[in-house]
Amino acid sequence: EADVEARGEPGLLGRMFGRRSAAPRRILDDEMLEQLEELLIASDMGVETALRVTANMAEGRFGKRLSSDEIKRLLSQEIARIMEPVARPMPLYAKRPQVVLVVGVNGSGKTTTIGKLASQFRAAGKSVVIAAGDTFRAAAVEQLQVWGDRAGVPVMTAPQGSDPASLAFDAMSRAEADGADLLMIDTAGRLQNRADLMEELAKIVRVIRKKDPSAPHNTLLVLDATTGQNALNQVETFQKLADVSGLVMTKLDGTARGGVLVALADRFALPIHAIGVGEQIDDLAPFEPEEFAAALTG
Ligand code: GDP
Repeated sequence: EADVEARGEPGLLGRMFGRRSAAPRRILDDEMLEQLEELLIASDMGVETALRVTANMAEGRFGKRLSSDEIKRLLSQEIARIMEPVARPMPLYAKRPQVVLVVGVNGSGKTTTIGKLASQFRAAGKSVVIAAGDTFRAAAVEQLQVWGDRAGVPVMTAPQGSDPASLAFDAMSRAEADGADLLMIDTAGRLQNRADLMEELAKIVRVIRKKDPSAPHNTLLVLDATTGQNALNQVETFQKLADVSGLVMTKLDGTARGGVLVALADRFALPIHAIGVGEQIDDLAPFEPEEFAAALTG
């Protein structure tokens, strides 16, 4: 919260009530509920979720006089209640290698997130192999190698334009031979041609299942918080393209649109494994519902 204020961006209610709780007590009436709804909608929570949050918050309190701190606390509780069931770290299995397929549109932060996760797994004593499965984008492959170096993890690459599935197969063999704990596979994020992308992802899954029918063990969808409500469309799209098992929300630092996480939790109930809070290797945090709700409403 202190952080948010330091950047000169008060949370939602900070904007409504001013910065300090010197604000007088106000009656919880229709006007106030409408104001609160507007603030929540402006944070990209979506109309439906915003209405439910304010309705739940007002239940049994309509017409009462509340201080801005009380309103913040109540609102924050409602939001945390929605978020708690989805706040779950990525599950780790005994299976070796545990195969983690990483999907998402270009620019969402896939490469960065793979690097950050690899670094965290390494710090936890796990051995990791990364496969640079977006074989069409030379820059993406290079960038992933940079992140692999930072994390101290080998990155398997293939010639530009070659079949990502065959790279995934080779990476599986390498990870098995090395006895690696985790294999993280980056994938292309070209949504311009969905049929192609769907086939590409399906083929990757087919070949890795030849080696391990239970793979991939996780399919992470990486979403960019600054795209706001667009993130909802991306979940829908990628759920059709792949068997998404969990989300990572990037770029939550410096956005006032974090409300989209509440809309996501409300609508899809997919686990939120982690959040990206910066461009550095350590800027990946577990998702903490209460902290998030307090910062959003603060
Ligand atoms: P990809 O195309 O999906 O692989 O996306 P990249 O990993 O290359 O990330 C795209 C841009 O977003 C890069 O400039 C990253 O530094 C930036 N980025 C990724 N995650 C975060 C985050 O959590 N916070 C911030 N501020 N920037 C991020």
